[in-house]
Amino acid sequence: MARTIRIRLPAGEHPIVVRAAEIFRREVRARCGVEAATDAPGEMTLTLGVRPETGSGGFRIEDGPDAGVRVLGSDEPGVLYGIGKFLRTSRYGCGEFIAGSWRGVSVPERDVRGIYFASHFHNYYHEAPVQEVVRYIEELALWGINHLGVWFDMHHFQGFHDPQAQRFLSRLRAYLSAGRNVGMRVGLGVLANEGYADSPASLRIPRTHGAYGVELCPSEPVGRDLVCRWVEELLRSLTDIGLGLFWVWPYDQGGCACPRCWPWGAKGFIDAAQPLARIARRVFPGIRVILSTWYFDYYILRNAKEGLPYRPGEEWDGLLDRFPVRPDWLDYILVDEEEGRSWPRRLSRDGRVPGHLPLITFPEISMRGMHPWGGFGANPQPRHLPLRRNTPAVRLAGGIPYSEGIFEDMNKAILAQFHWRDQQDSDETVREYASYEFGPAVADRVVEAARILEQTMIRSEKAEGGVTRFVLQHPAGAFEAHAILQQVESELPAWARQSWRWRILYLRSLIDRELVSNDFIPNDPCEEAFQELNRLYHAEKGIYSVSPPTRAVLERRRR
Ligand SMILES: [Zn+2]
Repeated sequence: MARTIRIRLPAGEHPIVVRAAEIFRREVRARCGVEAATDAPGEMTLTLGVRPETGSGGFRIEDGPDAGVRVLGSDEPGVLYGIGKFLRTSRYGCGEFIAGSWRGVSVPERDVRGIYFASHFHNYYHEAPVQEVVRYIEELALWGINHLGVWFDMHHFQGFHDPQAQRFLSRLRAYLSAGRNVGMRVGLGVLANEGYADSPASLRIPRTHGAYGVELCPSEPVGRDLVCRWVEELLRSLTDIGLGLFWVWPYDQGGCACPRCWPWGAKGFIDAAQPLARIARRVFPGIRVILSTWYFDYYILRNAKEGLPYRPGEEWDGLLDRFPVRPDWLDYILVDEEEGRSWPRRLSRDGRVPGHLPLITFPEISMRGMHPWGGFGANPQPRHLPLRRNTPAVRLAGGIPYSEGIFEDMNKAILAQFHWRDQQDSDETVREYASYEFGPAVADRVVEAARILEQTMIRSEKAEGGVTRFVLQHPAGAFEAHAILQQVESELPAWARQSWRWRILYLRSLIDRELVSNDFIPNDPCEEAFQELNRLYHAEKGIYSVSPPTRAVLERRRR
């Protein structure tokens, strides 16, 4: 037990280690009011250091001098991940810090433990105060997350110099810098044929082939050069930050199914992606390039409004043919793992990967079974997330989950820990999460509540006669989950009870109980909870998919 802490930094004061010490100081102060200082004596000493003895990003926590604790990283980010483990396993009394007793060595098994912020639709990442998101990025790093991707969504803007584009860019710059400061590889996603809202109409893809229709056909050299110029302009504006990650996407909007581009995934897409990758490599030597195969053999087919010369599986097959050996401009292939499409099953069966490249997965943690996404609070999925990982582990470099907001914070921790250790038990991660955020005394009950909230999560919206109902597919347990969390709440210290992580979990259980007891029609307690979620998400301007369904939101939608 200590009422003051001294932090000893290693010689050289590497910026990431200094940042790790500052984050430690902030988190401890917020939880128990104990001050941790580098320049004052303390009842306990926390010694930070770098000792390159384990794999990249690993750490060791051991007893230190003066009855203290030593956190040694194999590199600077490893110090930060060790601090994360130490924080999560420590305890916080009123004015007292009780150092965690976990000792040992931990080394990540996967290199890529990422997160992608979908910053659009006026969701959290689009609208929250920048400093709040910066802090959130630092908190994610404590779980070992070491890659951060964002998107500069060109179709929103009338060119790069549109004032709105520049405002948005300064937000992204803050996120990317924050990630860099905690040792992340940060970078941009682009569509291989992305276009601004004012892209030349004569160069655009046929309207039927893409979502927004402002993208350019890359088989037209003038169009392809224009996309290259736009992307280079964007990348050069970020040289002071230093990007380490560049991923090129075939869809969601985007793609071209004209006869010269088709099959897009194996032809037009690759012809467009290669020059972009080379530009990225030129502007940022050492940048890692990911080629996404997301929605291959599915997207254009689903969206085609007129007949396309489509053969099942030809995008993935074509890419296998196109890359018999590893291309020099790529580092990874991104695969998604959704069921119901042919090639993920084939990949898991025959294991053939284009160019024999290492794989990165793109787990979905935001949108399953609940619409609006996060609209009912937290969506913990400790059972589902491990089950969906059917990619051959031997070729897996890691994963970059898709995130729409903070409501899936627990899922981010679960996947970060899977990417750290393949055999990690997700209940164990939830327990560590709950112990840190709410206290060890309630951790087991939060694990139980998270398990139930996953069972009751799936719901569908039914609108009839001016009344909207949100019908839970499996309502059993909704009362129990809320009873558990009500009891837990009465035991929480103020810092935990008031935290957004607690509120989104608690409100989820409250909303579900009220829905079940009111024939799935939102009542006054639901309305109050939706409004609070709206404030927590900064979703006041959000489109329906990212807005908790308050009466005002439902009314707007009906009109
Ligand atoms: Zn085309």
